[in-house]
Amino acid sequence: MGLVASFRNPVIRPIEMTSTPRIMTPPLPVLQVVSPTEDAARIRQAAGGGPTADTGPTADTGRNADTPQTPRSDSETAAPPQPTETFLAELAEASQRLESATPQEILQFAVDRFAPKFTMATAFGPEGMVLIQMLSELAPQTPIFNLETGYQFPETLELREEIKRRYGIEVELKRPATTVEEYEAIHGGPVYTTDPNRCCHDRKLSVLKQAAIGMDAWASAIRRDQSDDRRRAPIVGWDAKFHLVKISPLANWTKKEVWNWISRHDIPYNPLHDRGYPSVGCWPCTRSVQIGEDERAGRWSGFTKTECGLHTS
Ligand code: SF4
Repeated sequence: MGLVASFRNPVIRPIEMTSTPRIMTPPLPVLQVVSPTEDAARIRQAAGGGPTADTGPTADTGRNADTPQTPRSDSETAAPPQPTETFLAELAEASQRLESATPQEILQFAVDRFAPKFTMATAFGPEGMVLIQMLSELAPQTPIFNLETGYQFPETLELREEIKRRYGIEVELKRPATTVEEYEAIHGGPVYTTDPNRCCHDRKLSVLKQAAIGMDAWASAIRRDQSDDRRRAPIVGWDAKFHLVKISPLANWTKKEVWNWISRHDIPYNPLHDRGYPSVGCWPCTRSVQIGEDERAGRWSGFTKTECGLHTS
């Protein structure tokens, strides 16, 4: 039995190892009940307007709802965005305008401007769970996917099932072309021990590039205060690596704001966060952290690598 820091409650506590994945939900009740329809209308207005209920995606059209097919919208048939001077200026203006907007307003902007070619990638971290809860109210039809490297913790994958139960949203698992067994056989063993950049490229980045085909924009759940790399992230910007518009609704949020929102809205989260893992990635490249360590210190410990490459230019 070892001693680790609880991410949410920084006290030393023994590690509780359990073989059965479980979802921890904070006991606090939801403090605010807002009609999703009314709230979405208000947010749409604050986000700078957008399509009316009969011309675009609406907050009350869930993925499983029995609603008639709407005609293909302009954005559905339009050519993929190109980083022209005009388009980049549009993104910069939107980013500036949304700098003090709420995450819901930013998401609403993304839905109004880019749906149905707007998607979200999630590793089921606390920030991603916040965005999924918000999208479940604003635009539950938004396609959300997870990069399933084959090395994720069972606790992480169990969150996908909890999201389905809680919000009726099915997060799609996007997998590399090879299984873990095939990949390790090709390379004579685990690549993460010798060349984690290569492993992340093969099992994450190349998969996201495939997932980006046909999409115009994606949401990421990064916060600016997580690392130096992320400090420069705009709210809305051009992601040259994936040839997509990248939207970061939580760029201005702090860790505390994220966890307050999780408690307030009773959002499920990865139980590993209560066992000293503030940032959870693939199990071979994630360790628990001690009190006082950076929240991402447990990722690729022993290597100079600090990012998988999804959020670096
Ligand atoms: S985090 Fe580790 S195991 Fe996962 S893809 Fe990157 S190097 Fe491979």
